[in-house]
Amino acid sequence: MLELDTVTAGYDPRTPVFRGASLTIAPGEAVGLLGPSGCGKSTLARVAALLHRPDAGRVAVDGREVRGWRHRAPRDLRTAIGVVFQQPRMSADPRLRLRDLIAEPLRATGRRAEADERVAELARTAGLTSDLLGRRPHEVSDGQLQRACLARALVLRPRWLVCDEMTAMLDASTTAALVAVVEAYRHEHGAGLLAVGHDRVLLERWCDRTEEWTDCVRTA
Ligand code: ADP
Ligand code: ADP
Repeated sequence: MLELDTVTAGYDPRTPVFRGASLTIAPGEAVGLLGPSGCGKSTLARVAALLHRPDAGRVAVDGREVRGWRHRAPRDLRTAIGVVFQQPRMSADPRLRLRDLIAEPLRATGRRAEADERVAELARTAGLTSDLLGRRPHEVSDGQLQRACLARALVLRPRWLVCDEMTAMLDASTTAALVAVVEAYRHEHGAGLLAVGHDRVLLERWCDRTEEWTDCVRTA
């Protein structure tokens, strides 16, 4: 399970963005979280991805409560979760060629030897040609860069995926292609998904169930 239990989070403990957020995702399940812009969905996505420490409440991954945050959550828990954000240019190092961007988590976890094979495999899955793999972020489109960011999120074979407005900047055909990549991965690996967004039609079609922000969060 990926569990958030009565979580409070924000950027200033005196004025949290939300209080009392609870959400549970079962292995293999795809859950969409819908809410208006600015309500706190990205903050919640970052908490669920263990990238943002909550001010109160409990977060647990596969039965293990996340403890021992110093500036980051423990790495073995973080690497169980792949994350894709809305704006690929904000999460991609502009100096790295796409092949190195995809391989980055393998390098950081000391698994460099697997990199070439894994990158080739994911590039095929994500629809990136070898010409594109040799380019840097400023030499590709948003859609091509987001394909690489999705491949990076899958490279460590996470049991959980958090997609925060992954397709908000993309056209319909790239959106459909990226959703298909996520779904193929989930079916192969039994991975659970939290897809956060504001596009009800997309999330209802994509996910097993959708939650309304107002139902899973007591606003601060
Ligand atoms: P959503 O994803 O639903 O649009 P966000 O989680 O991005 O909402 O933002 C929720 C609130 O937190 C907003 O008021 C936003 O201005 C604020 N916020 C987001 N990121 C930061 C940050 N890094 N520092 C301070 N406030 C932030
Ligand atoms: P460290 O444990 O050294 O602090 P980091 O938190 O910087 O490690 O990152 C761990 C690995 O996760 C890095 O290789 C980083 O590239 C990778 N990573 C960063 N962003 C994402 C993402 N959106 N999806 C998947 N992996 C990511």
